Amino acid sequence: MTASVSSKPVINLAGVSKSFGATKVLKEINLDVRSGEVLVLIGASGSGKSTVLRIMAGLETADSGEVWVNEVPLHDERRAKEIRGHVGMVFQQFNLFPHKTALGNVTLALIKARKMSPADAKKRAMETLDRVGLAERAEHYPSQLSGGQQQRVAIARALAVEPGIMFFDEATSALDPELVGEVTEVMRGLARDGMTMVVVTHEMGFARKTGDRVVFMDKGVIAEQGVPEHIFGNPQNERTRQFLHRVL
Ligand code: ADP
Ligand code: MG
Repeated sequence: MTASVSSKPVINLAGVSKSFGATKVLKEINLDVRSGEVLVLIGASGSGKSTVLRIMAGLETADSGEVWVNEVPLHDERRAKEIRGHVGMVFQQFNLFPHKTALGNVTLALIKARKMSPADAKKRAMETLDRVGLAERAEHYPSQLSGGQQQRVAIARALAVEPGIMFFDEATSALDPELVGEVTEVMRGLARDGMTMVVVTHEMGFARKTGDRVVFMDKGVIAEQGVPEHIFGNPQNERTRQFLHRVL
């Protein structure tokens, strides 16, 4: 649990729908993310979790409904672009540049996204790598790092630009089981530090222990949401029960 969740919404989706071709993948989604909150999205593959996250991050547009960021509606493409500059994204695939060191990967993001001088960028990048426990590996190339370490570099790269919110889409799904813990531990640390986070995950332990609120998605709708104790301890929806029965 996060110590202080504010009532102020950082992001708010109001009646958001989205189709791909003839398939309606999101149906009138209403969902807000509050400052300092760790919001965890769970649900079967294809239920719409990534699409919700991508719309929140400004990577995808809604067909209808409204997206509000910091109480400002996100209507035009220019604003969406602005939002993308102030969020951190971590995906299943780390997508590090193989010919750059850990430090080089993080530094490059700062020079590109923040137009920092190489010296300032390098200093900030080192601080951020230290935060994910990788200061000693700064000069290693991705091929010299484990999957868990590579994902921590990817987290550092996203964090370095000091985003207002961090999105994680199955950040541990590509990792060998023994490497999952070091990544969820870094994510827990961010949560403890008060970072606003939206996390799509299959790690029910993380959802239960670190989530402030858990949202269960089913076929493009929010079937149920609540505090972890409610979702895991006393789910009301039959589909939530079936899903948890399958994954736990
Ligand atoms: P989840 O993350 O819960 O697995 P997604 O949001 O990725 O679900 O996908 C929801 C549905 O939308 C799926 O049926 C998926 O195949 C479809 N979908 C997602 N992205 C696209 C896309 N870019 N083009 C076509 N269909 C898509
Ligand atoms: Mg997904």
